[in-house]
Amino acid sequence: MFGLKSDWSLDIKTRYFALGDYAGGEARWCPGCGDHGVLTVVQRICRDKQIPPEKTVAVSGIGCSSRLPHYMGTYGFHGLHGRALPLACGIKSRRPELDIWVATGDGDCYSIGAGHWIHAVRYNMNMTVLVFDNSVYGLTKKQTSPTTPIGYKTNTHPEGAVLEAHNPLTTTLGIANVSFLAQTVDWNPNHLYATIKAAHDHKGFSLVNIIQRCPVFLPNFFQGYQDDPSRVLLLTHENGIPMEDKFARLFPTQKEHDPANMVDAYAIASKRNPLPIGLLYHNPAVPCYEDISSVGKDMGMEEKLAGIEKAFDQFAI
Ligand code: SF4
Ligand code: MG
Repeated sequence: MFGLKSDWSLDIKTRYFALGDYAGGEARWCPGCGDHGVLTVVQRICRDKQIPPEKTVAVSGIGCSSRLPHYMGTYGFHGLHGRALPLACGIKSRRPELDIWVATGDGDCYSIGAGHWIHAVRYNMNMTVLVFDNSVYGLTKKQTSPTTPIGYKTNTHPEGAVLEAHNPLTTTLGIANVSFLAQTVDWNPNHLYATIKAAHDHKGFSLVNIIQRCPVFLPNFFQGYQDDPSRVLLLTHENGIPMEDKFARLFPTQKEHDPANMVDAYAIASKRNPLPIGLLYHNPAVPCYEDISSVGKDMGMEEKLAGIEKAFDQFAI
């Protein structure tokens, strides 16, 4: 590809990454699964931002969504159940220049990985975390997950789930150092793309809860939201998720919400009907742990020794 520089000489870019450069193995999710759309959006964002595939890492735990690293033509790490976030934090600690995408699910992240989720939000390391929230354990065939609604029948609760569903949005908002929280749905590609792109643009730990269809174990579970868009609450704001008018118009129920307002974010996140989508909370001022912990990393040996001597001097008698 050629570009014209300001001094009129030709700038030859030797590399341009096409969508195919981010494609890995053929996706084996079920037909109609919402995961396919998320994968496509991630690959499109990588292409649109021209992120070198060799600088990109997809990290996951266990579950249907956690197969995503296999389908990316980048580096990847398919980890243990619930352990996607500590793996991603470890990679970021040693290689902060890498672009990290985490694919996890409602079971993987909000149940067995819940302890890691809470501390990963607090560490605020720069990564894009996509939680594929289909309200069920899909890979292991329809067990109750933390976000399964009370009363819903699953293979572990044939008479219906007995506990109130967990609300991952309000929980995330209650964690120290939360810096980016959004929610979107897999069936609206424009909102899905814009939300994940905004999450990726944010420097810090961006958590996107993606309401994701599992047509095999929860057929038509989200059909009501699809058939009647007024049941979805589109959050709008100049600092929120950018949506062209022609797409925003499709949502009759809208609310202007300043993502800097934590109190309002909590009130919106507390309700599921209508289902809020958009940027709930954003605080770009929260420092990233990899920046705080790298202070002094570039010091030479002499400088380090002088620092140690100085520290010891305070104990001189
Ligand atoms: Fe998707 Fe459900 Fe199939 Fe898993 S079981 S791949 S979540 S449709
Ligand atoms: Mg799930």
